[in-house]
Amino acid sequence: MAVAADKVNLLGMPQSNLEALFADFGEKPFHARQIMRWIYQRGITDFDQMTDLSRSLRQKLHDLTMIELPVVLSRYESSDGTVKWLFESGFGQAVEAVFIPEPERGTLCISSQVGCALDCAFCATGAQGFNRNLTAAEIVGQVWHANQTLPRRSNDAADFAVTNVVFMGMGEPLANYRSVLPAIDLLVSDLGYGISRRRVTVSTSGLVPQIDRLGDECNVSLAVSLHAPNDALRDELVPINKMHPIQSLLDACWRYAEKRANRFITFEYVMLRGINDAIEHADQLSALLSGKPAKVNLIPFNPFEGNDFVRSGADTIAQFQSRLRKHGLVATTRKTRGEDIDAACGQLAGKVSDRVRVRLSEKKIGNRKTRVATL
Ligand code: SAH
Ligand code: SF4
Repeated sequence: MAVAADKVNLLGMPQSNLEALFADFGEKPFHARQIMRWIYQRGITDFDQMTDLSRSLRQKLHDLTMIELPVVLSRYESSDGTVKWLFESGFGQAVEAVFIPEPERGTLCISSQVGCALDCAFCATGAQGFNRNLTAAEIVGQVWHANQTLPRRSNDAADFAVTNVVFMGMGEPLANYRSVLPAIDLLVSDLGYGISRRRVTVSTSGLVPQIDRLGDECNVSLAVSLHAPNDALRDELVPINKMHPIQSLLDACWRYAEKRANRFITFEYVMLRGINDAIEHADQLSALLSGKPAKVNLIPFNPFEGNDFVRSGADTIAQFQSRLRKHGLVATTRKTRGEDIDAACGQLAGKVSDRVRVRLSEKKIGNRKTRVATL
């Protein structure tokens, strides 16, 4: 008899993979569609309740497969209606997802990694370091939980709370391309959640090769964490800039936009007092983006313990925004939600023990003179 560890998890598996699996089992591929409807549309994960599958097929699924969801460790609700979940990620680790209700939509902000290795100077996730990538099941499982536990938007059972998904939780989604792509497939598939590609946003700090790949393979909305209008400053704030500097990042962005009929790319820009919020910065930013399919989303910095940056004043943010608009750019300022439950942008910390730093310190003990980072 198969033991749990040998069983393949059907959650997070795109239709084509499920069909191949059923074929391997000597079963008809159309069962993939039935299983997907049960898991995502009806929220059923118990094979015995899947009444349109034969008894013998259900037994086979029991023996060879499982539907394993991430476990919710805790749930917090903000006074503004924002909901945050902490999901178990094994070995004492945890990641977070945040639901932001608005009258016309419900946005779920999901995590893609346990921590993040990219170490942006102003980010609570980055400050914790990196532990591991989430699986596709752990990514899509966040959406499953939100949709199963939040009230529907109407009396229609298929009118799920989550209408938009943003990969803006913990982690760099394009550094976990292998799991993020199948998860997106399930979000947009009619047999999954049927969310339009336009309403799924991948936010990246700027991994150029993966932006090109995403444009070819998937074409969802793209948000880019720019945060600085010149390389000297961006090198400091977003260290991956040293590998993929602004011009090569922007070139990749315009290639991406072209593949999507020039639909706009959002550039995120965290407002840090006295660092990147001067009028000259607004002018430099405008010079980079004017005339391009770009919009700018200013994010007031959200503080967290152990970090010294300060949020720009409301006046400064307003002036910065109007300067961008004067240059003809579309610019908005993100409303901060869920601050009272530490659910705002960049505050998601979960529970991460940093494997990168552990490896670094092991190296230090072994050989005090050569402190080489092995990522
Ligand atoms: N790794 C991806 C997605 C996760 S972060 C990325 O960097 O784009 C989602 C957004 O929150 C990014 O734009 C990120 O730069 C921003 N962010 C990080 N820390 C923040 C903070 N303390 N305050 C406000 N925004 C922050
Ligand atoms: Fe990672 Fe994004 Fe945080 Fe940078 S801002 S450390 S890329 S999660």
